[in-house]
Amino acid sequence: MSEFLAARYAGMSPYVPGEQPKDRPYVKLNANETSVPPCPGVAKALADPQLAAGLGRYADPHCMPLREAVARTYGVTAAEVFCGNGSDEVLGLLLLTFCEPGARIAFPDVTYGFYRDFSATHGLAWTELPLRDDFALDVEAFAAFDGTVVFPNPNAPTGLAITRGDVARICEAHPNRLVIVDEAYVDYGSQTCVPLTRDHRNLVIVHTMSKSRNLAGAHIGWCIAQPDLIDDLNDIKFSFNPFNLSAPTMAIGIAALEDEGYFQTCTSTICETRDHTSLALEGLGFTVLPSKANFICARHPMVRAADLCARLRTAGVLTRHYDAPRIDGWLRVTVGTPQEMALFLAETERILQGRAPASP
Ligand SMILES: *Cc1c(COP(=O)(O)O)cnc(C)c1O
Repeated sequence: MSEFLAARYAGMSPYVPGEQPKDRPYVKLNANETSVPPCPGVAKALADPQLAAGLGRYADPHCMPLREAVARTYGVTAAEVFCGNGSDEVLGLLLLTFCEPGARIAFPDVTYGFYRDFSATHGLAWTELPLRDDFALDVEAFAAFDGTVVFPNPNAPTGLAITRGDVARICEAHPNRLVIVDEAYVDYGSQTCVPLTRDHRNLVIVHTMSKSRNLAGAHIGWCIAQPDLIDDLNDIKFSFNPFNLSAPTMAIGIAALEDEGYFQTCTSTICETRDHTSLALEGLGFTVLPSKANFICARHPMVRAADLCARLRTAGVLTRHYDAPRIDGWLRVTVGTPQEMALFLAETERILQGRAPASP
């Protein structure tokens, strides 16, 4: 830390993303990305000579064509959509825009680490609301909290979802505080709360193209809320980074949103692979949470999750283990292709049986 760092960042806690090692090829099941490429329209959009020719000019800082594509997809208007450089930027701008320094914010005790790290870095007063014993979100605790609340639905790394009725209940309990629902994994079998934004002024729904749209490398996210909240977000964005999305990034995003068939095929394949892998893990003696996401959270009575994660890594399979209270016994595995999951299952079975790796 240099002597120039602003004093208000003394308690800073930068978010640590899942590792992206390059020392050898891995079956990469640790960051909830997708193992398949984006739809063919994305490559076509990138190859468009007009795109390259236009790069001398700034792209639209209002991100209008992309916002319109999002609006068409979700049955809302562009005035209800704000786009960002990944949903992390959208989440960060939401908290910068709507939370005073020192403001109260709550999120689950077991959840996406970014919320805690952002709160620490920006001096918010955060509260962790414990998940119930079965790892379900405690809807009543979120309803009762009278500051900003943020949670993923389905939650990560548990994969458990609450219903639209539960989200409405949380919004109604305190209409004067903001409810941010991070729907990063909503496309894998749970219900979106986008339609609730019309009736609930305090609700903001955050989406990403990094997971279900196969575009982590492009890093596009958005939120959907009532137009005056979107205007506030744009005002703060224009004081921070007006041109937050590049022209190629927006062209890619629009192309991916236009191919609904590819999206449906990819997401339903992942749901099938997930359910098949969950059953196979149960067959190996694991307890598996009923995931509505593109990852599986599982624990085995005989093997420590940290050991399993390390030994899978040696075998060339990356998974994620959190050295944190309540979930340190659990392994989180992203759902890849059926072939990747077969390999993961074979290596897991081999480790459970105490056999040596097939090849280093
Ligand atoms: C992956 C993830 C994000 C981040 O998405 P980006 O759009 O890549 O920034 C946000 N929230 C949750 C819960 C995630 O798992």
